Amino acid sequence: MVASSNQLIRPTDQQWQAIVANDRQADDQFWYGVTSTLIFCRPSCASRLPKREHIRIFADPNAALAAGFRPCKRCRPTAELVSNQTWVLEIDQVLQHHYAEKLDLNELAKQVHGSESYLRHVYQQLTGQTPQQKLTQIRLERAQLLLATTNSTIASIGRQVGWANPAYFIKIFRQQIGLTPRQYRQQFLSV
Ligand SMILES: [Zn+2]
Repeated sequence: MVASSNQLIRPTDQQWQAIVANDRQADDQFWYGVTSTLIFCRPSCASRLPKREHIRIFADPNAALAAGFRPCKRCRPTAELVSNQTWVLEIDQVLQHHYAEKLDLNELAKQVHGSESYLRHVYQQLTGQTPQQKLTQIRLERAQLLLATTNSTIASIGRQVGWANPAYFIKIFRQQIGLTPRQYRQQFLSV
């Protein structure tokens, strides 16, 4: 039996802001249902932002279920909250699989269902690196492998690891590795 959605609690400004920002820090503090879809989510869910008038607030997932809402498949609001350690592993998985794509912090945050600032904070706290530094490291390792083991052009390798601009690829490679990509490749060609 679905409770009349008008009787349910509407979001405060603060709750609304947390939903707008996909604020992971608000997770486990409240859950929100959307009356137009009858689906409920965690505040951090990166699904399309519903209209504010369609949002109803719940103190726990069971209350949302009791009111006739179904859990979102994307943020799985009835699952246990993932620990930060698990979350970092999840972030690494996304970086390892999608390093070749345009992957800025905003896109990453969407994929792992968190806010940008919280993502950067937690990731750096647990790994000592920012997600961007980790992404650069993955790309450089991949580029080194391709330089050493293929005949692809420098520009093509740059593109394959996610740097479409060859000048930028060469610059960052040289900064981090201390050699240009061409010089790096030379080491494997000699003898
Ligand atoms: Zn959701």
